[in-house]
Amino acid sequence: QTASPGAARSTFVVNSPNVTYTDSEIRSKYTYRTTSVETDANGNFVATPKETLYDFKVDRKVPKVGMMLVGWGGNNGTTVTAGIIANRRNLTWDTKEGVQEANYYGSVVMSSTVKLGADAKTNKEINIPFHSLLPMVHPNDLVIGGWDISSLNLAEAMDRAKVLEPALKSLVRKEMAEMTPLPSIYYPDFIAANQEDRADNLIEGSKASMAHVERIRKDIRDFKANNGLDKVVVLWTANTERYADIIDGVNDTADNLLKAIEQGHEEVSPSTVFAVACILENAPFINGSPQNTFVPGAIELAEKHNAYIGGDDFKSGQTKMKSALVDFLINAGIKLTSIASYNHLGNNDGKNLSSQKQFRSKEISKSNVVDDMVEANSILYKKGEHPDHCVVIKYMPAVGDNKRALDEYYAEIFLGGHQTISLFNICEDSLLASPLIIDLVVVAEMMTRIQWKAASTDGHETAEFKHFHSVLSVLSYMLKAPLTPPGTPVVNALAKQRAALTNIFRACVGLEPESEMTLEHKLF
Ligand code: NAD
Repeated sequence: QTASPGAARSTFVVNSPNVTYTDSEIRSKYTYRTTSVETDANGNFVATPKETLYDFKVDRKVPKVGMMLVGWGGNNGTTVTAGIIANRRNLTWDTKEGVQEANYYGSVVMSSTVKLGADAKTNKEINIPFHSLLPMVHPNDLVIGGWDISSLNLAEAMDRAKVLEPALKSLVRKEMAEMTPLPSIYYPDFIAANQEDRADNLIEGSKASMAHVERIRKDIRDFKANNGLDKVVVLWTANTERYADIIDGVNDTADNLLKAIEQGHEEVSPSTVFAVACILENAPFINGSPQNTFVPGAIELAEKHNAYIGGDDFKSGQTKMKSALVDFLINAGIKLTSIASYNHLGNNDGKNLSSQKQFRSKEISKSNVVDDMVEANSILYKKGEHPDHCVVIKYMPAVGDNKRALDEYYAEIFLGGHQTISLFNICEDSLLASPLIIDLVVVAEMMTRIQWKAASTDGHETAEFKHFHSVLSVLSYMLKAPLTPPGTPVVNALAKQRAALTNIFRACVGLEPESEMTLEHKLF
């Protein structure tokens, strides 16, 4: 498949005794430098640099990957599908502003670059596409499928979504019309009652059951076999569900969760049933919505099966801006004292969120996104002190998929002065979320082909290569409420999230973290 010109591939090798390439693998020896801090008798910190030597092993064979979307017939599902087809076929179409070419704008993997180094002769910076850092799957090569409780084929569903230009729709219509979502599971209590009229493509049964788990597992296996795939990644981009109550003996442990599903317990959500099916089928599963799909029992089950999971809730518009802006304000030493966030949107997501329980899931997801930044600055904030933070979402059918996000950031500056920042952000929702779906799938798949071994450490010595933890917190950049391995910190700050993603990938090919020191330009 040829990529669009904007997504040109460039290749590089790392010339270092620490990096070796074989036909099947890239191996790197990487010194990870951290700082260990102790507090002495006087309460002063003692910082000791620490080194851990890791071996990374990357499987170079790019597999044939299937992407299965739960909620395929929704706005995101149809938009990402049309977008991939458009790129695959290098489509161009007419708009009122001129001819538009297919591209992957908004995808970190496809449309951002990372610094490789400086030119040996001119010392000028050389940047390469993020996609060429490691042997990642190209989104054009993803085979797409999925489920929806609505039976419309993807062409009809694309019309219902009202996202894409008519000229583009006419170019992909034929292909999209041949795509029909598989029937799905529908437990009415979990999504808004106003979704009922589209639920006409259902697997029998209105509460969790092992039959549902088995049916979804079979769907994944069949999709894999019918398309000759090596791997399938599943992503939930279906409606936001209400939170599931965490109940002792029901969803608190892996065994209890399986038992609860067997017994048809009413507190097990469709998204958790999908997660369980994917974990048992060893298909990475990512949750793009805010609800607590990953109840403790689901996380434990993933750990037991060494299966990959990631979530929650795409970070596309308002929150992405928030996690960049608040990072800036607090790191500039400015005391943010309140954030008022309003949204109105008119798509089906907005309709579903007009129901209180589903809104509550979104409110929780949107509310904790500045905690880590606040906690890191004990000069501005006393222990336990937080900026006020309020989130409002209203359903306004007329604006369709073009969500409006209005934010006021109010901050205290020098000597009691104030800075007020008002933002009006028109987020074309599905056009922002679709590239994130691609990034989540491509990065999650890549993570399944990376292994590590601690060569010599104080206490962390491992003999065998191991995989990363089941909970892929490296996906945090794309997610509003990042799920992290139990007991590990959540990082919301956008710059830190991107640094983690790029630097982990760099380490796998023996490159140092991106350092902005540029001493070569400063020491004359
Ligand atoms: P949508 O309502 O257009 O699509 C959701 C689809 O899921 C619908 O077609 C619906 O029929 C289907 N569905 C519902 N329950 C299902 C089930 N049990 N099984 C299979 N299909 C089911 O919504 P959207 O705009 O595509 O957004 C999808 C999700 O992504 C929402 O939860 C939304 O909150 C979340 N999200 C979106 C963005 C964004 O920018 N678009 C950002 C963050 C989160």
